Amino acid sequence: MAIADNLRKIRSLLPDGVRLAAVSKFHSESAIMEAYEAGHRLFAENRVQELVSKYQHLPKDIEWHMIGHLQTNKVRLLAPFVSVIESVDSLRLLSEIDREGGRHGRCIDVLLQIHIAKEKHKFGFSFDEAEAFFADGLFASFDHVRVAGLMGVASLTEERDLIRTEFVSIGRFFRRIREKYFADGGTFRELSIGMSGDYEMALEAGSTIIRLGSAIFGDRRR
Ligand SMILES: *Cc1c(COP(=O)(O)O)cnc(C)c1O
Repeated sequence: MAIADNLRKIRSLLPDGVRLAAVSKFHSESAIMEAYEAGHRLFAENRVQELVSKYQHLPKDIEWHMIGHLQTNKVRLLAPFVSVIESVDSLRLLSEIDREGGRHGRCIDVLLQIHIAKEKHKFGFSFDEAEAFFADGLFASFDHVRVAGLMGVASLTEERDLIRTEFVSIGRFFRRIREKYFADGGTFRELSIGMSGDYEMALEAGSTIIRLGSAIFGDRRR
């Protein structure tokens, strides 16, 4: 019941065109099914094994997003079914997704992960590296992977102003890249920012996908 109530409450706050990815990592399949019965279809996981196992056991009309660091040798496990890989942090990974997408006759949507947090250990391209990536244009030559936008994780901090600044920066960067390199089409359209503690600020900065775990499912063990 609580899960359905949480979903209803959050959905009522979402502007048109913004999607809610329910981050189900460390939560049971029955918790996911509670959200599913309430009409939710978009779920996200950050570990390959857990994602594959949940995909195998749960209804096939669920749209799965991968949001955690992905090793190239694991891409083949996701390629048959994943909807969006949000955590692409290297050209090498992108080219492997292209290869595996080809093997399965698919074009896989991905987001480029941008490192916006102050913590050094987080993954992703810097703004400069991402700019070089788009300027280089090699990504556009891949037939089986499509760069559909950007993803970012803000600093883990109580400083709301810092988080807001990070979201505003990636929001500006996203719109600039879209105008400069994707002016002719709507394929570059997703900005995935915002988690349970900070999604209001992400929405203000132009988020199109928010990724919420604890706000929907409650606390998780890790
Ligand atoms: C766990 C996770 C989330 C969701 O976190 P909550 O604080 O529970 O909403 C969102 N994005 C990523 C990349 C995560 O790993």
